[in-house]
Amino acid sequence: MSTLITNVGELVTNAPPDVGPGGGDGAGAFTSISTAALVMEAGRVAWTGPASRAPAADQIVDARGRAILPGFVDSHAHLVFAGERGEEFAARMAGAPYQAGGIASTVAATRKATDPELRAGLRRLVAEMLRQGTTTFECKSGYGLTVPDEARSVSLASEVTAEVTFLGAHIVPPEFDGDTAGYVDLVCGPMLDACAPHSRWVDVFCERGAFGADEATAVLRAGQAKGLAPRVHANQLGPGPGVRVAVQVGAASADHCTHLTSSDVDALASSPIVATLLPGVEFSTRQPYPDARRLLEAGVTVALATDCNPGSCFTSSMSLCVALAVREMRMTTREAVWSATAGGGRALRRTDVGHLAPGARADLMLLDAPSHAYLAYRPGVPLVAAVWRDGELAWGSAE
Ligand SMILES: [Zn+2]
Repeated sequence: MSTLITNVGELVTNAPPDVGPGGGDGAGAFTSISTAALVMEAGRVAWTGPASRAPAADQIVDARGRAILPGFVDSHAHLVFAGERGEEFAARMAGAPYQAGGIASTVAATRKATDPELRAGLRRLVAEMLRQGTTTFECKSGYGLTVPDEARSVSLASEVTAEVTFLGAHIVPPEFDGDTAGYVDLVCGPMLDACAPHSRWVDVFCERGAFGADEATAVLRAGQAKGLAPRVHANQLGPGPGVRVAVQVGAASADHCTHLTSSDVDALASSPIVATLLPGVEFSTRQPYPDARRLLEAGVTVALATDCNPGSCFTSSMSLCVALAVREMRMTTREAVWSATAGGGRALRRTDVGHLAPGARADLMLLDAPSHAYLAYRPGVPLVAAVWRDGELAWGSAE
């Protein structure tokens, strides 16, 4: 059965990765059609163009001048955990610094939780993301940090997404205090063996207080040897080797990129790696934002993602990230929306999501607004009226 969505005020299509202007020009790759229509069939986009030339379809949806965008692609999220850290957030807002060690409290709660408890929390967050227009998301482990707890984390994540990331190297757990080498051996050995079958990606928190360059490289290389592709938490809390490590191992994405040297920027610009910016973290930790303009002007491909996690940023809202990117990081509305859709697709090496060219997955959202700019123009307002996934209405109503 085919569905025609017509009378679309603005249809954001984004150039598909293979025909877009060569890697890096996020703004240039944003494309849209006004007074448009889209046909979807068998879970895919079948046609886009001016509404006046739309072909017939079995079913018609009238967008009444509202905007259609590709579903958000949230390429960085930590969704398998128990407990919450509202008090830590309140303390931080009262002046306490953010430290990577805060993760340990979530690790303790996660280890104590039952599988059904973890699954219920995960599914609640996934539903919350869908209501806000996110149709593809990555999900990391990293709050178990034992072989069985990491294995169940990636197994639970694989129930809700294909983009599962093994993050055994999130922090050194308390029982390995003073023995980082011993923990890295566990991560690269039995833990990786148990997690690789459920994972597509391997990630490491390469940061002072977490894992250094050699340790991070060992973890990522071990993951690659098991068929996982690398991505890296890099240069979040201070300058460091994260971006260099990410480029050296051929990571899909270097995430955070808040504290970069000129050579880091050059390395990102001269590689196919995506710089994934997570402005919800800086918002929630009251830290300086990454310099998005410097990256874009150097030709780096930029993605936006939530980093949804119970510690440093407990938002699942890609719309908030777009608004922050525009208001606080001086990205244009077009750049920010491209980075939150097509950019996320690139960070996950996906060519079927983040754009609405014919052949793309029919993952899209209807905004209760005439253009994409309203995501930043009306921050905090729930503008997503309906979400289609694989061509099926998955949430909301087009009425
Ligand atoms: Zn993260």
